[in-house]
Amino acid sequence: MTDVSPLFNDHAVYKTLLESTKAIPWKIDWATMKFAYIGPQIEALLGWTADSWVSVEDWAMRMHPEDREYVVNFCVTQSQSGVDHEADYRALTKDNGYVWIRDVVHVVRNDEGDVEALIGFMFDITERKKTEEQLLSLQKELEVLSFKDGLTNIANRRRFDSSFELEWERARNERKPLSLLLFDVDFFKQYNDLYGHTQGDKCLVDIAQTLSLALEGPRDLLARYGGEEFVVLLPEADAESARKVAERCQRLLQKKAILHALSPHDRRVTVSIGAGTVVPGDRTERSGFIKAVDRQLYAAKNNGRHRIEHVQLSESERP
Ligand code: GH3
Ligand code: MG
Ligand code: MG
Repeated sequence: MTDVSPLFNDHAVYKTLLESTKAIPWKIDWATMKFAYIGPQIEALLGWTADSWVSVEDWAMRMHPEDREYVVNFCVTQSQSGVDHEADYRALTKDNGYVWIRDVVHVVRNDEGDVEALIGFMFDITERKKTEEQLLSLQKELEVLSFKDGLTNIANRRRFDSSFELEWERARNERKPLSLLLFDVDFFKQYNDLYGHTQGDKCLVDIAQTLSLALEGPRDLLARYGGEEFVVLLPEADAESARKVAERCQRLLQKKAILHALSPHDRRVTVSIGAGTVVPGDRTERSGFIKAVDRQLYAAKNNGRHRIEHVQLSESERP
């Protein structure tokens, strides 16, 4: 085996090694709370010269105010209990910027077991933090996107399913009504055939935008349910308020007056609406309620389109 003792007996080699690494070594005497040593590399990283690091106060004061209290308390507590530890924080640079540091701390004890000094290394983890932050913001963006319909920018089916499930449970627990409106655009195939698919897409965007104006409750939700179908979820809405919202939707669309030359309803784009209201009980099921509302939509189509059919379900006439 190679004898390494000459290396470690050679103070100069030791010093060169320590001072040429990217990690910045330091030592604090426990009794005085003063720096016994800090690697000269600190100047290149933060701008403060090595001899400007006198006491732990210098260390604490050169820390982002938001990190200071937590990090100082944590490090003091750990050191007092003699536990090795590490902490991430933003260190202040001489030109008033911040650098993310990971400080890895080892507690040195004497033969009696008393804490004698703290030694450690500071690592520049700015790049890693940047990547972490980018990942986090990407994750948030994805979360938002995964609940949004790509064409109309309103909530998508997944978002509706998840909100509907939550609101259903809430309505059941609070014994409150919940209403649902299902929309299907009338004669939309003909609209596409007449104006082209791109114009059809634009029409769906306009419809979504128009319907969104009809909502008012903070938990009301408009979502794209399928191709040319939309859904409105109305928590705490009884039959009367549901009917009002449905009528407002019809009125707003009428005002929007999107031309549909083949539509028998004043040559305008119209929708049929199936509406339902329920106070969910122990025996009512979500899927049964949707089916009942869907039947209303079917009835609205059969009864001439451009109309609203509503059903109110009670526990005794469950679907
Ligand atoms: P009805 O009044 O009975 O609802 O007649 P309809 O023509 O609307 O019904 P149908 O289900 O036959 O046609 C729906 C059409 O909607 C067919 C499909 O091409 C169109 N569609 C579905 N999704 C989209 C979309 O994202 N963009 C466009 N442009 N058209 C779509
Ligand atoms: Mg349809
Ligand atoms: Mg249709």
